Order: sequence, then structure tokens, then C-alpha cells
Amino acid sequence: MTVENSIYQKTISQPVVIEGIGLHSGKVAKVTIKPAHPNAGVIFIRTDLEKPVTIPATYDFVTQTKLATTIGRDIAKISTVEHLLCALKMMQIDNALIEVTGPEVPIMDGSAAPFCKAIETVGVVEDQTALRKVAILRKRIEVRKGDKIALIEPSTRFHIDARIEWTHPAIGTQSFSYTVGETNYKEVAFARTFGFMRDVEALKKMGLALGGSFENAVVMDEEKVLNLEGLRYDDEFVRHKVLDAIGDFALAPVQVLGDVTLVKAGHEMHSELIHAIFSNPENFEVVTVEEAITEEKNLGVLETSWAAEIQRSI
Ligand SMILES: [Zn+2]
Repeated sequence: MTVENSIYQKTISQPVVIEGIGLHSGKVAKVTIKPAHPNAGVIFIRTDLEKPVTIPATYDFVTQTKLATTIGRDIAKISTVEHLLCALKMMQIDNALIEVTGPEVPIMDGSAAPFCKAIETVGVVEDQTALRKVAILRKRIEVRKGDKIALIEPSTRFHIDARIEWTHPAIGTQSFSYTVGETNYKEVAFARTFGFMRDVEALKKMGLALGGSFENAVVMDEEKVLNLEGLRYDDEFVRHKVLDAIGDFALAPVQVLGDVTLVKAGHEMHSELIHAIFSNPENFEVVTVEEAITEEKNLGVLETSWAAEIQRSI
């Protein structure tokens, strides 16, 4: 099944609960995804604190991009939000309240699949009174750091091209492309986070990755993958990078239409690219999906997934 684009906003049909351990804390946390009103966006709530704190899932609340993406407000923070945000994006959810009972979204199996499955069990509803909005880019925007590149070019779709280059024999050079609304979400949803045994040991000494295990990550030594079950896709590593990018781009204040190229990029580069786009109002224009299609016709670009969806809905 390909998740279709919609011109209307969507939310989850009823609350769903997911429970698991945090990768860094090793502690059990519960996540409840609840329906939200049109135009609410995705809002996290730390419900375990004496006074619950709400943290909107937008780039201006990102406080940390090392190892995982963390959002925060005042003293409250929630880390590892990207896999859950990726699942919401792939399931086309625009509005949701997400209650979390701790400082970390559970790592589950290290992928977005458990969140996708949970959402699928209750389903998604469309609100035909609320039009979905998108940001059309006015120019190409690029962020470079050494040999790392993250750039976005104007387009009528949201497309990611990712490439990674590692000297490790199990990884090497891998590329993968994903187009929202076209690529089947199962092509990336199952890709797990990955790490090296030497780093896991060092992180544990620092009090991090306490919940890390073969149950929730692909773990490698200097030569090979150590998980007995092996890989879920031959190029699982780059697919997970795409998964992370979809999740991080869900922190844009509105869905960006653009062709994204990522070379050796990670959470930090994704966050910087989103900042670069939205820091200057001349870079983009926010329109409804219908208006984006008109724009598309003006540009002489037809037959994209967005255009096809409009055709079907008329
Ligand atoms: Zn990840």
C-alpha cells in the first residue's frame, strides 16, 4: 500500500498506546498518540512531570541533535522523537497530541515500524473542513560542513535522495530515494538504527545507551553485523538515514515541497537545513495543496503525485 497524499488534514481516529524502553535511559516509557484539532500540528506533552509541559514538534523547539533529535521547553525535554515523527508523516498524520511519560520516546525495535503498526490498528481520519498546507520553495538552499551536504531544491513533491559513505565493510557506499506519497512506507519503516559495539560500550560508561541492545539496533564490530538475524534490507543503513530525515523534516512548521539531497548527513545537518529554509521568509511561500497544484501548472510541471491526488478528489 502506498500512503496517498491528501488535500485535507488528517489525525489519528482514536488514542493508541505504545510502551517500551528508552534507548539512553533504559527506563520504560509510555507514549499515547491522541487525535488533535485541525491546524494543531503535532504536540508532545510530558505527562509525568508535576505540571505537564507541552512541547510543539517544530524545529524551533529542537535543543539537541547529537545521537538523536531532542525537543525541549523550559526544564522539560523529550529525546528520540524522530522515529515516531517519521511514522506520523508516513501515515499522513498532520495533527496529534502525543503524551510521553518520560524524557525519551521508547526506542522499540530501533525503527518506525512499531509506531506505524500502532497507528494502523486504529486508523487515520481526514477532516474535510481543514485544508492541508505546504511550503513552496523560492530558491535552492544548501548547508555544507566538510564533506557533509544537505540541500533542497524547489519541486512539486517532497523527495529525499540520501547517500552515505562508510569505510566499514558492512556499510560502504549506499544510496536510497524516497518520495512522500509515492514510495511504499514499508521500504523504510523497518530500517533500524545502527551503531558500533565499541561506541555502545563507551556510551554506557557515560550513562548513555543504557537501553541499547540487539533488540533495538543493528550492532557491528569492526568487520561485520553482530545481530544473529542479520539485516532487514541489504541497504538498511541508508534506509534508516532516510527514515531519520523524514522524521526530522516533520519538524518543519509546514510540509516543505522540495527535492532534498543528503550526503553523509545526520540530525544536525537536517536541523540546520530546516533553520536555513525557515529563517528567511523570502525562501518560501505557504499555500494550500490546491494552490500548489496551480503553481505547478504555471510552472508547466504536471503529473506529480499531488496533481494525481487532486484529479482523484475532483
Ligand atoms: Zn534514527
